[in-house]
Amino acid sequence: MSKPSSLIVYLLRQFPKGHLLATLCVAGLIGMAVMVPGEGNSIPSQATLDLSLPAPQSGRSLDDSNQQVVPTRQWKEVTVRSGDTLGKLLRDQGATASEIHALVTSHEEIKRLTNIKPGDIIRVEFNDAGQLSAVQYQPSQIETITAELSDTGWQFAESIRDYERQVKYAAATIDDSLFLAAQQAGMSDNMTMKLAGIFGWDIDFVLDIRHGDHFRLIYEELFLDGEKVGDGNVLMAEFWNQGRQVTAFRYETKDGDIDYLDLKGDSLRKEFIRTPVSFTRISSRFTTGRYHPVLHKVRAHKGIDYAAPRGTPVKAAGDGKVIFAGNKGGYGRVVIIKHGQNYSTLYAHLNSYAKGVRSGKRVRQGQTIGYVGSSGLATGPHLHYEFQVNGVHRNPLTVPLPKARGIPDNERKEFLVYASKLRNQLALYAEASTLAQNEQN
Ligand SMILES: [Zn+2]
Repeated sequence: MSKPSSLIVYLLRQFPKGHLLATLCVAGLIGMAVMVPGEGNSIPSQATLDLSLPAPQSGRSLDDSNQQVVPTRQWKEVTVRSGDTLGKLLRDQGATASEIHALVTSHEEIKRLTNIKPGDIIRVEFNDAGQLSAVQYQPSQIETITAELSDTGWQFAESIRDYERQVKYAAATIDDSLFLAAQQAGMSDNMTMKLAGIFGWDIDFVLDIRHGDHFRLIYEELFLDGEKVGDGNVLMAEFWNQGRQVTAFRYETKDGDIDYLDLKGDSLRKEFIRTPVSFTRISSRFTTGRYHPVLHKVRAHKGIDYAAPRGTPVKAAGDGKVIFAGNKGGYGRVVIIKHGQNYSTLYAHLNSYAKGVRSGKRVRQGQTIGYVGSSGLATGPHLHYEFQVNGVHRNPLTVPLPKARGIPDNERKEFLVYASKLRNQLALYAEASTLAQNEQN
């Protein structure tokens, strides 16, 4: 999912402001986070609520024999040093040239084993005859690749462990910044980015946030062997912005498309990113042909100028087809994209085009199409951005953006059932959190 890139910059800028004084001033903060206690607890987890979502991709287990491999073997652990290749590392451990050759030419899968980096751990095993008999590598915390010598040659097995997922609830009222409030509620910065990304289509976190805005959500935390190793997904979230409530449910369709949907099952995403560049400031706004009383002439600026450092990536606002990529008078190097029948967008003064972007090419939303520059009539590096609906220029900052396609009609009923279960779950957490808070007072 693409998200407005200016938002990311804003959030990153906001984050270091979490100084102590501000922290102490957060009076209106609820700052509650309730950890789901271990199994058998009365607070329902996703599993006990029978939420009929397919198992997450990352949780699939290809081979459950992984656990028993390690203890029965005589592994020797070797840390990869800079300059090491798999061959060199095995040679240093005593493998012969022909053993190494047999391994590295055995199977396509070997590529995953030769992709090692300094600091990685490789396990090697020699059998009683002193022959190289097994090699194991963990490309990530959950993946293990094992190569094993059998009677018929080298065999490869990959196993992926399941994360243990715990559902967590958090709620906060924003007093200063979203980041600060979320931190107080026990959320990681990564999770705050996810939350902001979900609502970034509806809420401009630079301009729209007001004192007293609040949110609550349930999300997953990932554990391995009882230790937290990261964050999973936001399952559901509610955000109140200037009195308006936006609700988001994470939903996976039967086709495997994952999206955040609102109460009706419509996507929260839009067909267009509002801002196609991470900008430092708006240097010129949209004006239609307006008579200028001092200059005594009609001046129009049919786009928005976003000042940004030269070389900043410019993104396609939506899926579409490039209908022009080249030089055009005062625009300088410009890309024009047509999106379906009714919409087109224009990106001017580019320094250069992204690779492969030329007339006739299809582009995806969020794909980099070029880089900010000052080609054509431009006093400094900026992106001049235009948005047209049915051939008429509209203000890119305010034009209503069409929603992305939501849930397929034949799945809407199931979604509504699922969504109401999630809402009940969130309400339970909220209640438990209020109880816990009252007990503390
Ligand atoms: Zn302009």
